[in-house]
Amino acid sequence: MNILSVQNLCKTYGEGEARVEALKNVSFSVSKGEFISIIGPSGSGKSTLLNLIGALDYPTSGTVTVDGKDIFGMKEEELSVFRRRNIGFVFQTYNLVPELNVEENMLLPILLDQRKPDMGYIQELLDMLGLTARRHHLPHQLSGGQQQRAAIGRALAARPAIVLADEPTGNLDSKNSRDVIALLRLSVERYSQTLIMITHNPGFASNADRVLGVEDGVVTELGGACV
Ligand code: ADP
Ligand code: ADP
Repeated sequence: MNILSVQNLCKTYGEGEARVEALKNVSFSVSKGEFISIIGPSGSGKSTLLNLIGALDYPTSGTVTVDGKDIFGMKEEELSVFRRRNIGFVFQTYNLVPELNVEENMLLPILLDQRKPDMGYIQELLDMLGLTARRHHLPHQLSGGQQQRAAIGRALAARPAIVLADEPTGNLDSKNSRDVIALLRLSVERYSQTLIMITHNPGFASNADRVLGVEDGVVTELGGACV
């Protein structure tokens, strides 16, 4: 079953001399439970694609369907509820709320949705991310790597159907990077989540079921992992 379908997606920024065709007629589908990695050079359109799938921006044309629902057809309010319930986003810049500690940042999407958090699962995530001793720290009291792991914890805390991760290991050393990829994989397998991850590292990309290459706004299927 397709959880996600991207059809004829185009995104243009700017006008005249400054016009950039960031995505050129991109189409692909993703099944529930799949782990997709996206690789490609800087400026090729990877973040633009992820932001559109996460409904953080509107396309110039084309559609994104999640679980059969056309996300750009929703009203703004409906869309923010949808995003909170279904999408976990790991931003390159973390986007942690500076006034909230690690644990509060992780709980935020669940509490905003007026749901009861599974504190056992939050504790488990904190342990797996090596953040238990930092749970009451504010983002500015953490190292870059710890902030990145906190952002991953926040994306996973509500067990969203789709996890979108933009360079989730960009600020981690190789051991921590491997741990984070293993955690993401474990999480998606355990909860049948779908993971779409941008990475610069071909070695990390090969952990995925399928690899999509982006070059100059064009997406190509590069195959999957060897089994
Ligand atoms: P990547 O994530 O692969 O590095 P991006 O999706 O960030 O690539 O960018 C794709 C292209 O779109 C680049 O040429 C970039 O300069 C341009 N771009 C991205 N965001 C904006 C924006 N907000 N305004 C104008 N141009 C943008
Ligand atoms: P940096 O931002 O400098 O890369 P790190 O993310 O490497 O920081 O980690 C900062 C601190 O957190 C270090 O003391 C490290 O030992 C500890 N740490 C990092 N990853 C883990 C983990 N997975 N489990 C437990 N502790 C960790």
